[in-house]
Amino acid sequence: MSKVYITYENVHKYVLELATKISLSEFTPDYIITIGTGGFIPARLLKNIIDIPIMCINVSHYNGETLERKIKTIQSIHKNSPEHEAIRNKNVLIVDELDDTRSTLLHVVDLILNLEPNEVGVGVLHNKIKNKMGEFPESIHYFYSRLIPDKWIVYPWEETEQLKQKNTLLYYH
Ligand code: 5GP
Repeated sequence: MSKVYITYENVHKYVLELATKISLSEFTPDYIITIGTGGFIPARLLKNIIDIPIMCINVSHYNGETLERKIKTIQSIHKNSPEHEAIRNKNVLIVDELDDTRSTLLHVVDLILNLEPNEVGVGVLHNKIKNKMGEFPESIHYFYSRLIPDKWIVYPWEETEQLKQKNTLLYYH
């Protein structure tokens, strides 16, 4: 699969676009919940514009015996914890870097909905054009900066040697 390399400059641009779309919507988040680790940097940059507290949930992906891709929650928000009390009846924005098959986002949305928030939004930088594992529940506010073809995206925080070789760079403008 061909790769698309994203620069930090473009990450900042996409975060600004995401913040603009959220600000222009009817959804006003009180908390950001970022999905580690891909969502960490987008969420931190988003906080420069939408200055609300950030919490995080960590998941990992693995193949079970059926080789079906599964998601394991490594760090979560537990019922009746201070974090749960904070977000109960509040508007929560889940932030990740991208929506690929959507299985991660669906998993985390489900987890958050069980914590009795008021409204829930999902914000990503990239939404890949492909078949998804499912649709978000109707109540979810969904925001993305860019729709992109189904290619492998390399973010600057995953920088490899290739990123330094300018003639291999591809940008989305
Ligand atoms: P999902 O298929 O659940 O939407 O995506 C799961 C996770 O896989 C994403 O949050 C992301 O961390 C990783 N992932 C999927 N596609 C890509 C990609 O094109 N580039 C990178 N860097 N990570 C990806």
